[in-house]
Amino acid sequence: MKKIILFASATLFFACNSSDKTNENESTFIDPVTAHIDSSISPGENFFLFANNGWFKSHPIPSSEKSNGIFRTIQDTINESIRKICESSSADSKAAKGSNKQKIGDFYFSGMDTTTIEKVGINPLKPLFSKIDEIKNNKDVINTVAYLYTQGIPSTFGFTVTRDEKNAAAYTVYLSQSRLGLPDRDYYFNTDERNTTIKNEYLKHLDAMLNLIGMDKALAKKGSEQIFKLESALAKSSRKMEDLRDPYLNYNKMNIAGVNKLTASIEWKEMLSKLGISNIDSVVVAQPEYFSALEKHLKTFSVDDWKLYLKWNVANRFSEFLNKKIVAQDFNFYATVLDGIKEQRPRWKTIVEETDASLGELIGQVYVEEYLPKGTKEKLLEIGNNIRDVYAEHIKKLDWMSDVTKEKALNKLQKLNMKVGYPDVWKDMSSLDVSRNSFVENGMAVSKWNYGFMIKKYGKPVNKDEWEMYPQTYNAYYDPTMNEIVVPACNIIVPGFEGRMPDDAVLYGIIGGSTFGHEITHGFDDQGSLYDEKGNLSDWWTKEDRQKFEAKTKLIVEQFNNYVVLDSIHVRGENTQGENIADLGGVIMGLEAYRKTKQGQSTELINGYTATQRYFLAYAYAWMVNRTDASLAKQIMSDVHSPAEFRINGPVSDIDEFYKAFNIQPTDKMYRAENIRVKIW
Ligand SMILES: [Zn+2]
Repeated sequence: MKKIILFASATLFFACNSSDKTNENESTFIDPVTAHIDSSISPGENFFLFANNGWFKSHPIPSSEKSNGIFRTIQDTINESIRKICESSSADSKAAKGSNKQKIGDFYFSGMDTTTIEKVGINPLKPLFSKIDEIKNNKDVINTVAYLYTQGIPSTFGFTVTRDEKNAAAYTVYLSQSRLGLPDRDYYFNTDERNTTIKNEYLKHLDAMLNLIGMDKALAKKGSEQIFKLESALAKSSRKMEDLRDPYLNYNKMNIAGVNKLTASIEWKEMLSKLGISNIDSVVVAQPEYFSALEKHLKTFSVDDWKLYLKWNVANRFSEFLNKKIVAQDFNFYATVLDGIKEQRPRWKTIVEETDASLGELIGQVYVEEYLPKGTKEKLLEIGNNIRDVYAEHIKKLDWMSDVTKEKALNKLQKLNMKVGYPDVWKDMSSLDVSRNSFVENGMAVSKWNYGFMIKKYGKPVNKDEWEMYPQTYNAYYDPTMNEIVVPACNIIVPGFEGRMPDDAVLYGIIGGSTFGHEITHGFDDQGSLYDEKGNLSDWWTKEDRQKFEAKTKLIVEQFNNYVVLDSIHVRGENTQGENIADLGGVIMGLEAYRKTKQGQSTELINGYTATQRYFLAYAYAWMVNRTDASLAKQIMSDVHSPAEFRINGPVSDIDEFYKAFNIQPTDKMYRAENIRVKIW
């Protein structure tokens, strides 16, 4: 694989510092937008493969990965930087105790120190296991659930402190259905062949893990079956992914007496106080029926069953931090069975990503200082603002929306906060203690710290400076309760454009369309559109406009329901509609912003393609990703995003300009009759 350097000699565009290598780059430059075209496939047959198949043919998925493509390439680039940060921190013996450098260095060191990891084994978890062993009755079960939560080990039900969706200016407590050992509740019930294999393998995994934490063979075998039964009961009481999409149905504010009625075995005032929350009158119960069912499960399952379930939750929470045998067992199920990954990555890669997942806030500070080309934030902001401008123009021109709703939508768009690059204020992690003692102790310390950070929010004003991603996270998000998008700095990376400014088709197809345009549209998708400009769940639509909007979202649901992913597996249109609406909005806004640029208006060919063709090709490059079959199947079962192929072919086949640009005809496979092309934003 070609080594990718993040704008290493970015003199040209970011007025950075190093020498100008433009001429040298010019002679060796291979345009990644057109380099991977497979001309044996026509654009109208499968645009995703037309644009990207050349790359897929020469880049099979490595046996240590679930996918390959542009994301993997970018992540490798980022990992190289993080590795340097980790290794130099680890080598600095003079780093002051408590400094960011010491924490990063020691965390990474402990992860690479496999000798100590083997020696320590599961010892650091033993006090938690002993606590579970002491459980004698239901009351103890509940108290232990609370205690484990305070150690950053969730189980039994979901508990979060977050912004109140009907009063986004304040934090409140949300109680919800629990996460499960399998990625989604449907895994416990589906009876197709693929899922039956997964269930059987999961039972074996539970059995093996119980053995590895010291349980005797007979008990582990029986225990794995009991845990599966208990989790199946919790799963049965949980809503399906599609049913989690309606924020109103997931918002049930109740006083404490109300929650006590749902789960009579739990005295919730006491429970919340044990969880660290006092002075609270009401909470939001996301799925009340889950809590009524929990009452039943607390009685139906024995105390011993609950003890097994809690032990499994502890082991599973920290499995990646433990000894070789446990890591291998965890990998065998979660990576091989679920994602089709055949072998583990080199250890440094795993530990680099683990260190970043735990201490990304600290690593980000060095990353921004030492690895980010100057001008990154400004360039991203410029693109984001241009997208917001065309969005406003676009809303004004919509033919299906009344002026009253338009005004509200424009207000929401104008108030949308764009956090770009990196936080203005970093989280204060000074109270976190990291050492070289053992990797798992560091993992436990971080878990506990994160829990404390969340709990401390309660009763305080909403922290507007908080980021839920790091500058080195190649991703972005829209938060409806903040009405804000967050676009981390590394979104500036476009593989193939090292040392040169990507052209406008690339900037607007990838950063403008698939990032800014996509995230802004989340503010107006099936869910985001239910929140107002302040982040509150409130109906700002006229009834008629809302009906028209919902008719349009139905069309996109139908469109995606028809896409076949793998043998009998289809995309779940309902489940993925928010993402599909965001993709469609993103491509359209990116194109409109691009058309305001000189290149976007040019009639000259670029590497043999028109300006508009190049835009769509660049967008397709943004999703040049292929996955193992297992990983695709898992994505459909547990993810709200459509597979990459349909994130390209879906939206472009709704856009008239695409038809014109590539002369798509009714006989082409991608062709959708004009009356069913979805036009929302
Ligand atoms: Zn999205």
